[in-house]
Amino acid sequence: MDRIESFARDLNAGFPGTGIFFGEPMRKHTTFRIGGTVSLFAEPKSIEAFVWAERELRGRGIEHMILGNGSNVLFSDNPHRLVVLSTARLDTLRVSGDSLISGAGVLLSRLAAAAAREGLTGLEFAQGIPGSLGGGIYMNAGAYGGELREVTEAVTYLDVNGVLRTVPRDECDFGYRHSRFEDTGEAILSATLRLRPGDPEKIRERMEELAAMRREKQPMNMPSAGSTFKRPKDGFAAKLIDDAGLKGLTVGGAQVSEKHAGFIVNTGNATYDDVTALMELVKRGVYESSGITLEPEVRLIP
Ligand SMILES: Cc1cc2nc3c(=O)[nH]c(=O)nc-3n(C[C@H](O)[C@H](O)[C@H](O)COP(=O)(O)OP(=O)(O)OC[C@H]3O[C@@H](n4cnc5c(N)ncnc54)[C@H](O)[C@@H]3O)c2cc1C
Repeated sequence: MDRIESFARDLNAGFPGTGIFFGEPMRKHTTFRIGGTVSLFAEPKSIEAFVWAERELRGRGIEHMILGNGSNVLFSDNPHRLVVLSTARLDTLRVSGDSLISGAGVLLSRLAAAAAREGLTGLEFAQGIPGSLGGGIYMNAGAYGGELREVTEAVTYLDVNGVLRTVPRDECDFGYRHSRFEDTGEAILSATLRLRPGDPEKIRERMEELAAMRREKQPMNMPSAGSTFKRPKDGFAAKLIDDAGLKGLTVGGAQVSEKHAGFIVNTGNATYDDVTALMELVKRGVYESSGITLEPEVRLIP
């Protein structure tokens, strides 16, 4: 039995009912619908099990990563000798006054809907972002003028020494599509979001308005990871790509969306190599036409 198999056996023995999948294809767990198998895909069903798994993986020196909803990652098609710990079942959500106290795996859409139901404003922007709370905090997800840092009050995480900690927003080092968790590799377990009382009717109207804008502007019927590149200091990635004449450019099954040049979409059977080759062409084209270097927003797992 190899190290990964014995880790899986111990995880299941300590926490029966953990989802354990050997050789799981990552195309099943990413919105790009691309990616080869990982040695083990595990879905701990409680924070306790997740913490145990994280500590053991570190202690046993097994390569691993955390996955939220897989909406900002691109795995290569090769088999990965890797354990993926999914936060999908860290899904408890509690409302307390103006706050939402939520597991890292709760989807942002569910949080926004809960806030609306409770007549709490501040999270309308997040309704159409197809990520989890943990993935959203990790990269300070945002849209239409809102960002998670504005509503995050505190984050509970497991540090790299296996110690549980809770930090206030000010210690999260939030920036544009950035948080400390990108640099440290700490595992986000849960967070408290502080909202404000609002008019339920207006909250729902705003959410419907933003959903309609997404439907109109974004290729929501095709697999993608959202914006491929970060917004550069000068200008907008989509406009720069469009101005460089790259809309519709295709490599294999990957295409610069005809509807929104900021998205690369999987037209059916795109591979990692198709997408990354297309990203390089787009970067080069934009640099040649504008002198601006685009930085990827999507996490590449080669
Ligand atoms: C159609 C579409 C539209 C989108 N629109 C937007 C948008 O408007 N604004 C925006 O900001 N983004 C947008 N995105 C991108 C994406 O939804 C966000 O980046 C989201 O925050 C990613 O969350 P996730 O749970 O899917 O993270 P994943 O893709 O699962 O993971 C992303 C990274 O976060 C890390 N991570 C995830 N969870 C944790 C955790 N609990 N602890 C530590 N690290 C963790 C992973 O290891 C990985 O490195 C869009 C994507 C799509 C497909």
